Amino acid sequence: MELTSLTIKKIHEGLLKKEFSALELTKAYLEKVKKEDVKIHSFLSVCEDTAVSQAKEIDEMIFVGREIPLLAGVPVAAKDNILVEDLGCSAGSRILKNYTAPYDATCIKRLREQGIIILGKTNLDEFAMGSSTENSAFGPTRNPRDLTRVPGGSSGGSAAAVAANLCLFALGSDTGGSIRQPASFCGVVGLKPSYGAVSRYGLIAFASSLDQIGPITRTVQDCKIVFNVIKGKDVLDSTSVEAQSQKSSVNQPVKGLVIGIPKEYFVEGTDPEVIRLIKRAIDKYEEKGAKIEQISLPHTEYALPCYYIIAPSEASANLARYDGIKYGYSKGSKSKSHSLLDVYLQSRGQGFGEEVRRRIMLGTYALSSGYYEAYYLRAQKVRTLIKKDFDKAFKKVDVIFSPVSPTPAFKLGERTRDPLKMYLSDIFTASVNLAGLPAISIPCGTIKKGLPVGLQIIGKPFEEEKIMNIAEVFEKEYI
Ligand code: GLN
Repeated sequence: MELTSLTIKKIHEGLLKKEFSALELTKAYLEKVKKEDVKIHSFLSVCEDTAVSQAKEIDEMIFVGREIPLLAGVPVAAKDNILVEDLGCSAGSRILKNYTAPYDATCIKRLREQGIIILGKTNLDEFAMGSSTENSAFGPTRNPRDLTRVPGGSSGGSAAAVAANLCLFALGSDTGGSIRQPASFCGVVGLKPSYGAVSRYGLIAFASSLDQIGPITRTVQDCKIVFNVIKGKDVLDSTSVEAQSQKSSVNQPVKGLVIGIPKEYFVEGTDPEVIRLIKRAIDKYEEKGAKIEQISLPHTEYALPCYYIIAPSEASANLARYDGIKYGYSKGSKSKSHSLLDVYLQSRGQGFGEEVRRRIMLGTYALSSGYYEAYYLRAQKVRTLIKKDFDKAFKKVDVIFSPVSPTPAFKLGERTRDPLKMYLSDIFTASVNLAGLPAISIPCGTIKKGLPVGLQIIGKPFEEEKIMNIAEVFEKEYI
């Protein structure tokens, strides 16, 4: 039995039937990471000793006949901007290179209560700013489907680790597409929950009004299991809510379903082969009894400019705490001849990479007096218009289908010199964050000799259950 390619339910059954132990399972993953991650570089750190002792605890529970939760013994990885107590948490940045997390993020705490085994922390673009994982201060991750290509970003390490079977599932974070786009590039499932569905406590903040933590898995069923554990109100994050999930039929989620196809998402500039696969997926849903409706989201063209004002503005405020004194990397503080300003300038100048510095400059500019109204305030108004487009569309349709990204995974180095080209990777994903909606990326086929393409299913607020049920139909029959 190939231990590293099971699903959560299969692991649970296997453990109960004593077909394998949690220790054997964990060791199988750890060995695979050791052997294969040399070429992929999806992990920034692996915690072998604690993983092994956690696995032994689960085996002990089974041995004495205690009931074990569904996730007990499941080997997991977390993006390195999610705090796991006593493990390093670098956010992919030199400035936090030696930082150790003092507590668990709420999602980690909830998963731990279910008995997961933490294998390690995964690579990301520095502070989650990027679309290729090339902005990591610790070197890029490679796409396991084609090692000459990027895994997407910023949760590229998490998506690559799941795709290469180096962990059963991983957590990512999505501010403008960072779960969905890497999931799409690596051919795995990625869910960006509604804003407020999952607690952000213990997530290193990038843009607080957009950030959400979500699961990256190999199957939709696993995604459901993980989401149901991490979701819900948390007193430590005042924006989190206990949403009543809308009733959705698991057996017949597609019959009579009205699927909206936004014309602005099927325009020139998108790879025609990507469009072909998305259209093929839409046809399959139509065959299954869904009604297809053309819709318009007229402010789509402003989504990227709006995102790239709001996200850097919030980032510039959030990243002000890294001053060389409170946290992490510090330069100049030991020499008497340096002023406080020198400490700030040197620590931040050397601690942050190029893209992060660019965003801080963009953000502080957009928030500065005299420019605030012209940039930040205007972007907030546009954000409302984008949200209203969705509200209007959802009066007519139940869900919206689109590509996740205009292209499949691109080559390493292809876009690093042109930030604007890199930003275009988020053209179909950023609106969803601006509007606070849930969306899932599922594999819908491959093009150009094996490059995966993701289908994006966008739902109404807090209808994660529904979009996952709909996604599962495609997965079960066509993948
Ligand atoms: N690629 C986008 C950015 O660089 C989105 C990142 C994210 O979702 N964390 O901002």
